[in-house]
Amino acid sequence: MISSSLELRKALVTGAGRGIGEAIAQALAQQGAYVICVSRTAANCERVAQTICEQGGRAEAIAVDVTDRAAVKATCEDILKRLEGVDILVNNAGILRNALMVQMSYEDWDDVIQANLTSAFLWTKGLLYAMARKRWGRMINISSVVGKIGGIGQANYAAAKAGLMGFTKSVAREVASRGICVNAIAPGFIETDMTRSIQEKWAEEFVKMIPMKRVGSVQDIAALVAFLCSDAAAYITGQVLTVDGGMTM
Ligand code: NDP
Repeated sequence: MISSSLELRKALVTGAGRGIGEAIAQALAQQGAYVICVSRTAANCERVAQTICEQGGRAEAIAVDVTDRAAVKATCEDILKRLEGVDILVNNAGILRNALMVQMSYEDWDDVIQANLTSAFLWTKGLLYAMARKRWGRMINISSVVGKIGGIGQANYAAAKAGLMGFTKSVAREVASRGICVNAIAPGFIETDMTRSIQEKWAEEFVKMIPMKRVGSVQDIAALVAFLCSDAAAYITGQVLTVDGGMTM
């Protein structure tokens, strides 16, 4: 199973307990990386790490709430001490709390900004300096097409995902000379627990807007992450790469 391309790399993937994050963790492990699978629920990230190990890969699980500033800081410090750095950081964890603007609660706003945007700041703050010292790194932030085009009932989510795009470009400029590439991916409609919660009639409406007339798979995103982590992508930084079957052109 292990090929040489990411064999020397250590990767941390947030939201790796399910869905897109699980597929990313799998894809990086298949390229040989040691993968730290982070999610809120221990059973989820532990299952993913165990599956990777059973398939001949290398992984560990850490259950931590990515919105908990102190916990993320302590986790980063522990990882840096134990593993001497993380080469690849994928900020993927995210949540939805959809509500029309006039009905959106302060909690809906705060929770979504914290989980989707502030979490990326916390992990980056914890790991970037060590990455810069090694003069090689990859950061990939999972944004959304909603950050580009907005979404009814998604003012909080769109703000967070658009925020991730600006965050990506700023950090990319700061660390480009250190051999670190920082990019964002904007997925369209990908089949996961998150989208399965959308009512069937709305899901059908979304699919009508996709020129390819189908939803995307988690592998569609994971394959791009694996590519961006490879040496073949060493000259790509500060970009937002859209993977949406042509939904937004
Ligand atoms: P899922 O809901 O299937 O999985 C979300 C993952 O994030 C879970 O592993 C969950 O942990 C973790 N997570 C959520 N909140 C926290 C938290 N506070 N602390 C730690 N972990 C947390 O989502 P998807 O796989 O669909 O989405 C992944 C990313 O892709 C998200 O950022 C999402 O916004 C983005 N995206 C998804 C699209 C889609 O169509 N699915 C489209 C565009 C973007 P646990 O398993 O422990 O509960």
